Amino acid sequence: MALGLDGGGMKIKIQITIESDEGKPEALQEVAQLNRGSLRPESLGLTLAEARSILAGIEQTVVERQAAEFVAQQRLCSACGQERSCKGRHQIVLRTPFGKLKLESPRLYRCQCESEDRKSFSPLAALLPERTHPELVYLETKFAALVSYGLTVELLKEVLPISQDVSTTAIRQRVRQTAERLEDELGEERDIFIDGCQRDWNELPEPAVPLIVGIDGGYVHAKDQRSRTEGWFEVIVGKSMSQQGGSSKCFGFVNRYDTKPKRRLFEMLKSQGMQMNQAVTFLSDGGDTVRDLQMYLNPQAEHLLDWFHITMRLTVMGQMAKSINTNDQPNLSAEVEKELERLKWNLWHGNVSQGAANRGRSGIRSGHRRPRPRATEVAEGRSRIRDLHQCQPNIYSQLR
Ligand SMILES: [Zn+2]
Repeated sequence: MALGLDGGGMKIKIQITIESDEGKPEALQEVAQLNRGSLRPESLGLTLAEARSILAGIEQTVVERQAAEFVAQQRLCSACGQERSCKGRHQIVLRTPFGKLKLESPRLYRCQCESEDRKSFSPLAALLPERTHPELVYLETKFAALVSYGLTVELLKEVLPISQDVSTTAIRQRVRQTAERLEDELGEERDIFIDGCQRDWNELPEPAVPLIVGIDGGYVHAKDQRSRTEGWFEVIVGKSMSQQGGSSKCFGFVNRYDTKPKRRLFEMLKSQGMQMNQAVTFLSDGGDTVRDLQMYLNPQAEHLLDWFHITMRLTVMGQMAKSINTNDQPNLSAEVEKELERLKWNLWHGNVSQGAANRGRSGIRSGHRRPRPRATEVAEGRSRIRDLHQCQPNIYSQLR
């Protein structure tokens, strides 16, 4: 960086010096020139526009030099050292986080000592088959996963010198390509991922601290859903972390659409270093989908219902109990509420068989004690009881 004082102003030149192997300066390339007057808050340091321009200038110079050096090396036959003759030149376009660059790419003939038919090849084009720098793919994919394509474009244009050719269409294509590549790398789906036997597991190194995996599902509805049966899908998401609060990882998939959900979860756990002799605790609401997902991934796995989902269901059952209104059994509502309290206490203290027995007595499950539909609220209560009948067995089959 060169400074020059000129009256009250300041001229700052930013130059790149390229050195030879011996450390001698070979070439000097000017990247930017900044002019500053008297100091004001907005003129302190670099503006965003200047930063973009400097980054673009450095990228251009560095990439051009690297490409030129690579091409110069390729001009000489690696076997005999003779110069390969040039068939022609063309330009290739390389997209990087710091600008879209056009690079000279010569086509060279193979040396006589390499092949008799002397085919030609383009070394630079062969070196860069993707034409998009991996760092740019990383940035585009990362932000497109966090915010909309439109906001991704806005953000990248704001901070990086890539304004010319970044568009939502380009970002969408890049995300799609990355997603397809990741999908292709994912192995086949299986029902069971537990590998080996106890004898093999005993020989494994001491495992890391146990992993904890929380899984839950949710429904995404279209804004203009035409009916209750169309315009929605179920998403299953989860997070895995170690008990010592180490790095965590998330996963997600669309239920019934994803053909490899179990493989996806298994690979994520494997990427966190999961071994077959390592304890893994799965927490979920016990729903069928999430229950099937977490089975047979690890022999030491423990499957728990999380207290949040248990209490949520007990709260719903409590509200239904309050709405019970029968003439022939005026105390039924209070009785059921008391039973529910007992059930909650038993579940909290791990008395699972007692809890399940209480639930059998609570009357909520037995058909002959169902409230009669005398008022609208009662009718609503009944439909919710039916819902509960459908989901309750999952809780208890998991608890046992
Ligand atoms: Zn040769």
